[in-house]
Amino acid sequence: ARRAALSAADGPGATADGHPVPLLANIGGPRDLPGALEHGAEGVGLYRTEFLFLDRASAPSANEQEEAYRAVFEAFPRGRVVVRTLDSGADKPLAFLPPPEEEPNPALGERGLRMFRRYPEIMAAQLGALAAAAAGTSAKVQVMAPMVATAEEAEWFAEACRTAGLDSAGIMIEVPSAALRATDLIRAADFFSIGTNDLTQYALAADRQVSAVAGLQDPWHPAVLDLIAMAASAATEAGKGCGVCGEAAADPVLACVLVGMGVTSLSMGAPALPWVRAALARHTLGECRSAAAAARSATSARDAKAAARAVLPGLE
Ligand code: PEP
Ligand code: MG
Repeated sequence: ARRAALSAADGPGATADGHPVPLLANIGGPRDLPGALEHGAEGVGLYRTEFLFLDRASAPSANEQEEAYRAVFEAFPRGRVVVRTLDSGADKPLAFLPPPEEEPNPALGERGLRMFRRYPEIMAAQLGALAAAAAGTSAKVQVMAPMVATAEEAEWFAEACRTAGLDSAGIMIEVPSAALRATDLIRAADFFSIGTNDLTQYALAADRQVSAVAGLQDPWHPAVLDLIAMAASAATEAGKGCGVCGEAAADPVLACVLVGMGVTSLSMGAPALPWVRAALARHTLGECRSAAAAARSATSARDAKAAARAVLPGLE
């Protein structure tokens, strides 16, 4: 039955009534491309660029960066590729920079876009290499920044993208302040992409790296669902896209709930793509909306999941 369900759901992602939901892959570099293509990714929704920068004595050259970005763009000539700018911090230090300040809570420290405020030349070089690689490709290249907490940061990043000649600048929603004030942030952004791993960590104040609090790291928690819904409605009202690229998108039932909350694309580790494609193909947009409403009416992660499952029968 599993095989039958999968083969019935080949092709682009869509609900049973034909509402399109592009299904994209999370990748860490060109080496992940074969898996993404094999599992039918329509593009890349999260290209984590850290691998180019970590564990090396000098910054990657413009040429080296351009080559890695071009290899990914060329794999999806008719698709979209969303590149996330470098997301490093005290827990993932860059060997070619002075050692960062000792931080008691690296998750709350100078990571993601915050690091670029200190080293804007590293961001400018990355955006320049992306623009150069994008110039020769037919893929739709979009660039987004991690760990954005304020509208001012979103404006700063969008302006840097424009200066580099990039025409689509997005903001990751992974800090609760960004979700709560999504209507402010969307003005500066061309799209949102929700990072549910970090959004859950920060909403529940439960460090992703600490196993003792792993039970709280559950994107089904209605507090997280509410934050996601806020971001998705702000994007919808502005006529802009709102993807999800955290682990939540790889859960077939939660994927339906996300679509029901107004999320417009889903990006995940490639092996999950067929399962999410099959789940969406079995349910209408109306059913996804009912499942989202049921989940948000619950008062715990467990009850939210059970409530969504009751509306979406047949999903494991
Ligand atoms: C996230 O936080 O959900 C995300 C996609 O980014 P990362 O897991 O790389 O922090
Ligand atoms: Mg993140």
